[in-house]
Amino acid sequence: MPSVIPPVPDGDDEFFWDGVAHDQLLLRSCAGCGRLQHPPSPMCPACHSLKWTTRQASGRGTVYSWIVSHHPTEADALPRIVVLVDLEEEGVRLVSNLLGVAPSDVRNGMAVELCFENYDGTVLPQFRSAVSPRS
Ligand code: ZN
Repeated sequence: MPSVIPPVPDGDDEFFWDGVAHDQLLLRSCAGCGRLQHPPSPMCPACHSLKWTTRQASGRGTVYSWIVSHHPTEADALPRIVVLVDLEEEGVRLVSNLLGVAPSDVRNGMAVELCFENYDGTVLPQFRSAVSPRS
Protein backbone atom coordinates (compact mmCIF):
# COMPACT_ATOMS: atom_id res chain seq x y z
CA MET A 1 0.00 0.00 0.00
CA PRO A 2 1.48 3.41 -0.92
CA SER A 3 2.26 5.82 1.93
CA VAL A 4 0.11 8.53 0.32
CA ILE A 5 -2.90 8.49 -1.95
CA PRO A 6 -1.81 10.00 -5.30
CA PRO A 7 -3.67 13.14 -6.39
CA VAL A 8 -6.27 12.84 -9.16
CA PRO A 9 -5.97 16.14 -11.07
CA ASP A 10 -9.04 17.61 -12.73
CA GLY A 11 -9.58 20.61 -15.01
CA ASP A 12 -9.27 23.06 -12.14
CA ASP A 13 -6.07 21.85 -10.53
CA GLU A 14 -4.18 20.06 -13.31
CA PHE A 15 -1.83 23.09 -13.67
CA PHE A 16 -1.04 22.84 -9.94
CA TRP A 17 0.08 19.21 -10.17
CA ASP A 18 1.96 19.87 -13.43
CA GLY A 19 3.87 22.55 -11.50
CA VAL A 20 4.58 20.18 -8.61
CA ALA A 21 6.00 17.68 -11.12
CA HIS A 22 8.51 20.40 -12.07
CA ASP A 23 9.26 21.47 -8.45
CA GLN A 24 7.13 24.59 -8.77
CA LEU A 25 4.28 25.77 -6.58
CA LEU A 26 1.88 27.43 -9.01
CA LEU A 27 -1.07 29.55 -7.93
CA ARG A 28 -4.07 30.50 -10.01
CA SER A 29 -4.23 34.24 -10.64
CA CYS A 30 -7.36 35.90 -12.02
CA ALA A 31 -6.73 37.44 -15.45
CA GLY A 32 -9.41 40.02 -14.69
CA CYS A 33 -8.38 41.43 -11.30
CA GLY A 34 -5.15 39.62 -10.39
CA ARG A 35 -6.57 37.97 -7.28
CA LEU A 36 -4.83 34.75 -6.28
CA GLN A 37 -7.12 31.79 -5.65
CA HIS A 38 -6.21 28.62 -3.79
CA PRO A 39 -7.61 26.05 -3.85
CA PRO A 40 -8.34 26.84 -7.49
CA SER A 41 -11.94 27.24 -8.58
CA PRO A 42 -13.43 27.90 -12.03
CA MET A 43 -14.69 31.43 -11.28
CA CYS A 44 -13.01 34.34 -9.52
CA PRO A 45 -15.07 35.07 -6.39
CA ALA A 46 -14.12 38.77 -6.60
CA CYS A 47 -14.83 39.75 -10.23
CA HIS A 48 -16.49 36.56 -11.60
CA SER A 49 -13.97 36.21 -14.41
CA LEU A 50 -13.47 32.74 -15.86
CA LYS A 51 -10.02 33.59 -17.24
CA TRP A 52 -6.88 32.69 -15.34
CA THR A 53 -3.14 32.79 -15.50
CA THR A 54 -0.68 31.14 -13.13
CA ARG A 55 1.93 32.65 -10.87
CA GLN A 56 4.80 30.78 -9.23
CA ALA A 57 4.77 31.14 -5.45
CA SER A 58 7.99 32.02 -3.66
CA GLY A 59 7.65 29.02 -1.36
CA ARG A 60 8.07 31.19 1.73
CA GLY A 61 5.38 31.46 4.36
CA THR A 62 4.45 31.19 8.02
CA VAL A 63 2.47 28.65 10.01
CA TYR A 64 -1.07 29.95 10.49
CA SER A 65 -2.31 26.86 12.35
CA TRP A 66 -1.39 23.20 12.77
CA ILE A 67 -2.36 19.83 14.22
CA VAL A 68 -0.57 16.55 14.85
CA SER A 69 -2.23 13.71 12.95
CA HIS A 70 -1.91 10.19 14.36
CA HIS A 71 -2.79 7.24 12.16
CA PRO A 72 -3.76 3.97 13.82
CA THR A 73 -2.06 1.61 11.36
CA GLU A 74 1.45 0.21 11.63
CA ALA A 75 2.12 1.12 7.99
CA ASP A 76 1.75 4.79 8.88
CA ALA A 77 2.75 4.79 12.53
CA LEU A 78 4.62 8.09 12.65
CA PRO A 79 2.58 11.14 13.59
CA ARG A 80 2.68 13.92 11.04
CA ILE A 81 2.31 17.65 11.50
CA VAL A 82 -0.41 19.04 9.26
CA VAL A 83 0.02 22.78 8.78
CA LEU A 84 -2.03 25.56 7.32
CA VAL A 85 0.60 27.82 5.78
CA ASP A 86 0.07 31.50 5.12
CA LEU A 87 2.05 31.91 1.92
CA GLU A 88 4.06 35.08 1.36
CA GLU A 89 1.64 35.77 -1.51
CA GLU A 90 -1.15 37.74 0.10
CA GLY A 91 -4.37 35.91 0.91
CA VAL A 92 -3.20 32.41 0.03
CA ARG A 93 -3.18 29.58 2.54
CA LEU A 94 -2.15 26.03 1.77
CA VAL A 95 -2.66 22.79 3.72
CA SER A 96 0.50 20.70 3.78
CA ASN A 97 2.83 18.82 6.12
CA LEU A 98 5.69 20.22 8.16
CA LEU A 99 8.82 18.07 8.01
CA GLY A 100 11.90 17.94 10.22
CA VAL A 101 10.29 19.70 13.19
CA ALA A 102 9.24 18.08 16.47
CA PRO A 103 5.59 18.70 17.40
CA SER A 104 6.78 20.41 20.60
CA ASP A 105 8.71 22.96 18.50
CA VAL A 106 5.89 24.05 16.16
CA ARG A 107 4.59 27.57 16.73
CA ASN A 108 2.01 29.66 14.97
CA GLY A 109 3.84 32.32 12.98
CA MET A 110 7.03 30.29 12.53
CA ALA A 111 8.76 30.84 9.19
CA VAL A 112 8.61 27.89 6.80
CA GLU A 113 9.82 27.18 3.30
CA LEU A 114 8.63 24.92 0.54
CA CYS A 115 10.26 21.63 -0.38
CA PHE A 116 9.13 18.75 -2.57
CA GLU A 117 9.09 15.20 -1.24
CA ASN A 118 8.68 11.99 -3.17
CA TYR A 119 6.51 9.40 -1.41
CA ASP A 120 6.69 6.13 -3.34
CA GLY A 121 6.56 7.98 -6.65
CA THR A 122 4.04 10.64 -5.60
CA VAL A 123 5.63 14.10 -5.28
CA LEU A 124 3.93 16.45 -2.83
CA PRO A 125 4.66 20.05 -1.85
CA GLN A 126 5.74 20.05 1.81
CA PHE A 127 7.30 22.56 4.19
CA ARG A 128 10.33 22.73 6.46
CA SER A 129 11.38 25.27 9.04
CA ALA A 130 12.96 28.29 7.32
CA VAL A 131 15.19 28.88 10.34
CA SER A 132 18.43 26.91 10.41
CA PRO A 133 19.01 24.96 13.62
CA ARG A 134 21.53 26.63 15.91
CA SER A 135 24.88 24.89 16.00
ZN1 ZN B 1 -10.95 38.40 -10.48
